[in-house]
Amino acid sequence: MFSNNLAPDLKHGLSCILGINKSLDAGRYLGLPSLVGRSKKIIFRHIQDRLYQKLQNWRKRPISIAGRATLIKAVAQAVPVYYMSVSFPANFIHFAQLGSGIPLPCIYNQGFRDFTAFNVAMLGKQAWRLVSNPTSFVSRIYKAKYYPRGVFMEARLGNSPSFLWRSLWHSQLVGNSSSNSWNIDMISRIFSARDRDCILNLPPPSGLEPDRIIWHWTSNGVYSVKSSYRIIMERLVQNHHFFIDDDWHRIWNADVPYKARYFVWRALRGVLPTRLSLHSRGVQISPLCPLCERNLENSWHTFVGCPTTTPVWIETGIWTDINSLLGEVNSFTELGFRLLRNWPKIIGDQFIMILWSMWHRRNDIIWNDGPRDPNW
Ligand SMILES: [Zn+2]
Repeated sequence: MFSNNLAPDLKHGLSCILGINKSLDAGRYLGLPSLVGRSKKIIFRHIQDRLYQKLQNWRKRPISIAGRATLIKAVAQAVPVYYMSVSFPANFIHFAQLGSGIPLPCIYNQGFRDFTAFNVAMLGKQAWRLVSNPTSFVSRIYKAKYYPRGVFMEARLGNSPSFLWRSLWHSQLVGNSSSNSWNIDMISRIFSARDRDCILNLPPPSGLEPDRIIWHWTSNGVYSVKSSYRIIMERLVQNHHFFIDDDWHRIWNADVPYKARYFVWRALRGVLPTRLSLHSRGVQISPLCPLCERNLENSWHTFVGCPTTTPVWIETGIWTDINSLLGEVNSFTELGFRLLRNWPKIIGDQFIMILWSMWHRRNDIIWNDGPRDPNW
């Protein structure tokens, strides 16, 4: 297939050289558009349409928040991933609809994909193919057009790059593939000044195999999207101001129903819709605890501070452990993680279920006028 800018006789000549009898119309291949024009909105609108179609059947059903999370992972993430696995648009999805209001570490810790990072990791796979298989047809075409006298790693974006080249270029890896000399820039970035000087004083290995590019984060040195995505996300998350450095896997690996894991994740993230939280967001509601009606209701009060919770902890036999930490921690999140670290797994799992039950009891009292007796 050819661009509309190409003269008909050139199209014909190239078709003869390449052995193509007839140039294809810009239709779809494997359900995806064959040509990417200037308007990306039009080209990618079908992804929106497909998501919309898939979600139509779900719209009328009431779904729990844990169910919605599963739905997002199973449908909303799967459709664009299919697209990215066979094509390579750069940053074509800004996952505002899913990600807005959810801090990046939450997305990561909870199993949602960050699509920008995932997109870059997928692009890296295409770039890796160019680098590791320079004699392939597509590699030779890109080299002839964009870096005829150099290598992919050092190629420049150029003046009017195509959409696909711009996408690939975004994932450009850093390296020096065949110079038989030290890459001083890279060594300076990676090593301390002392180590850098020691390395540069050594003669680079010669007479052995020619240099080749290896991927540092897999054992066999071959690029993988999974390892790339993990590295990108770890860097992004650790630089994020919402980052809470704790063992979230402990929550997700608990032997409790998924809804309880999801609930405790929200509680430790501090995103439960407590009355204080709702009130501070402008909801016309009293910020006081609906059980004792004396103190502001936040996560700490809901699970520890409220006098109605103490009998629950005493009854379940873990009050002593909780009480011993009350003077040492500053938040419910810190208390929760300290307790989960200290306890054997089975006690931690019980703790998670108790938190979940307490929240349900609270809701039962508010919405169904349930029993206020903590020994329910
Ligand atoms: Zn209370």
